[in-house]
Amino acid sequence: MKPNSTPDSPFPFLIDLHTDALYEHIRGRKDITQRSDKGHLDFPRMKEGGVNGEVFAVWISPAELKPGEYCDFALKGANTFDEMCARCADTVTSVRTPGEFRQAVAAGRIAAILGVEGGHALEGRADNLDRFFERGVRVLTVTWCNSNELGDSSGDENKPHGGLSSLGRQAVRRMNELGMIVDVSHSADKTVFDILDTSLSPVIASHSGIKARRDFNRNLTDEQIRGIAGHGGVVGVVFLPYFLREPEDKATIDDVLNCIDHICQLVGPDYAGLGSDFDGFGGALPGLEDVTKMGSIGAGLRRRGFAEGDIAKIAGLNFLRVWDAVAARSG
Ligand SMILES: [Zn+2]
Repeated sequence: MKPNSTPDSPFPFLIDLHTDALYEHIRGRKDITQRSDKGHLDFPRMKEGGVNGEVFAVWISPAELKPGEYCDFALKGANTFDEMCARCADTVTSVRTPGEFRQAVAAGRIAAILGVEGGHALEGRADNLDRFFERGVRVLTVTWCNSNELGDSSGDENKPHGGLSSLGRQAVRRMNELGMIVDVSHSADKTVFDILDTSLSPVIASHSGIKARRDFNRNLTDEQIRGIAGHGGVVGVVFLPYFLREPEDKATIDDVLNCIDHICQLVGPDYAGLGSDFDGFGGALPGLEDVTKMGSIGAGLRRRGFAEGDIAKIAGLNFLRVWDAVAARSG
């Protein structure tokens, strides 16, 4: 595999497990295909930052959309995703398999993966997973901040299901069969453990903080990190200042490195990854102000004495290992 061309990123893959930039693009608030200084991420800036893999999530906003509109919004988002990748075919390829991912990167292009954030997108029907998969969706975040038909969210005090619902169990198994990656970020504690009990494939937390470093309901406990690692999954560390430390205005790239370090100390270097949540929050994290700075993570880990092989795993190989396993189990 050709090394990444950015001097700060000499690892083969630099993969970000979660951005909301696609949602902003769909809403017409930005154009990802053009360079801008708005928000955190667009294709030209990804190129500059040496980021060659990205999960673009269609966020299903329960505030901006109504029930009955969620599924259609996700499918329209898939169309927009395809259109924007096609418009930039020289630099970006939408990929649906780990093989396509590796091919796109080997050809020097950004490999773009489509995700959906919020299981309410299914409108209570597990068979909508098949429609999503058909349209290219390869990652589903089971809940957003709202509980839905699949299970309870960390952001909902009521916890109506007591974890994953029976439909949620059915959905997780169907995702295993299809080869869609299950994402536990935002899920309530019990939902995370129920997903781990149910899923036959490794799962990801695409954009999560670490509770031992910042006590917040949406962050992962050490027990959850051990559970995700025990199932061969990966935790993408979020860059959102509020999830990294209190007070949030003191958060910097060092807090991201601390979270990665924490995961590595706890379960080893095979289970940490990067999950920026770029364009999913306002402001900027000093040191990781936008996607052009992603290579600084490798440099920071190197300064902390991480081995090159481990940095390469954290930068992307861990996620690819998970996707390989998810895809291999499907069918
Ligand atoms: Zn999110």
